[in-house]
Amino acid sequence: MNYHIDTKLVHGDHSYDQRTGAISFPIYQSATFRHPGLYESTGFDYSRETNPTREKVEKTIAILEGGSEGFAFSTGMAAIANLFQIFLPGDHIIVSNDLYGGTYRLFEELYKKYGIEFTYTDTSKISNIVNDTRESTKAIFIETPSNPMMKISNIREISEFARSRDWLTIVDNTFLTPYYQRPIELGADIVLHSGTKFLGGHNDLLAGLLVIKDKGELAEKLRVIQKTIGAVLAPFDSWLLLRGMKTLGLRMDKQQENAFKIAHWLKENRNIEEIYYPGLIEHEGHEICRKQASGFGSMVSFSVKDVNQIKKILKGVQLIAFAESLGGVETLLTYPMVQTHASIPKEILDELGVNDRLLRLSVGIESADDIIRDLEHAMR
Ligand SMILES: *Cc1c(COP(=O)(O)O)cnc(C)c1O
Repeated sequence: MNYHIDTKLVHGDHSYDQRTGAISFPIYQSATFRHPGLYESTGFDYSRETNPTREKVEKTIAILEGGSEGFAFSTGMAAIANLFQIFLPGDHIIVSNDLYGGTYRLFEELYKKYGIEFTYTDTSKISNIVNDTRESTKAIFIETPSNPMMKISNIREISEFARSRDWLTIVDNTFLTPYYQRPIELGADIVLHSGTKFLGGHNDLLAGLLVIKDKGELAEKLRVIQKTIGAVLAPFDSWLLLRGMKTLGLRMDKQQENAFKIAHWLKENRNIEEIYYPGLIEHEGHEICRKQASGFGSMVSFSVKDVNQIKKILKGVQLIAFAESLGGVETLLTYPMVQTHASIPKEILDELGVNDRLLRLSVGIESADDIIRDLEHAMR
């Protein structure tokens, strides 16, 4: 039966522990597994290759994203690093220029030296992608909404163009998650997540996920890469992630409701210069986001008019934590230029609008009024 996403979040692939019938899927905290005899296996040999709790996560995320295979890693960065092992020297990848700083650092400082080439462009405009096309282009990597400027790229349009050229379309779906946006249904080949963020949802674990649209060569290759590198998600963290995902929908709806209230409040605030939230009708990508996703998420970036406000706000917030990361039940405030995006050169940040007056708010599930009062107090 094809269940609603709300049901899929709670039950995943419907598998359960056959021996005990445990409702909460058990944590198989074992490095290795006993073989019944020569050339016989229970299906599990060694936890770097497969572990039952991790397998449950992998099947669940594959079902949620509408893909065929899932892969769980120790962090989002590990997921991306493993994925990029599929490329060869000389391969060229087009990448959203507004993206997570760690991803940029991975490409520029680690993968570039193996001869993989990257072009960063504003993927919210398909003409930029067409212009950056090379003979050697093999894939396009997008974040939508992007981080931290919340630009929206058209997943269907990009996937169609990529398919016509035999490129892979890779989407970092961390900000909206399959609860609001399912890139594979829109034509993408690979979806990735920092499970640390919304999927985990409680700021208590690190995790990374990949989902592949089709079974076959690519999935097999990734399985080999995953077990060979070994940056896999541990059994306990797999369990925390499963537990977090059960309430994803409830959390995201509440977080989005709060984000709308805060975005509207910021709009009326005289200290604020610009707000970047795709839920606002005036946001450049609002229409496309509405078409390709069922929600706008709860990441709100904004710039203040006076740079002196930044220090005041970051020091003055009491309920809101000035901290890196996002997506959890607690509201966090980030200063992208100094924190998440510090590895990106200043010229690129200037061009994007990531300046010393920009803050990024990850709205949690607290009372929106309390979050607003905290901001109000800090600005005063
Ligand atoms: C945090 C993040 C990552 C990296 O994930 P980690 O779990 O921190 O390694 C990648 N992409 C996006 C959009 C992120 O927010």
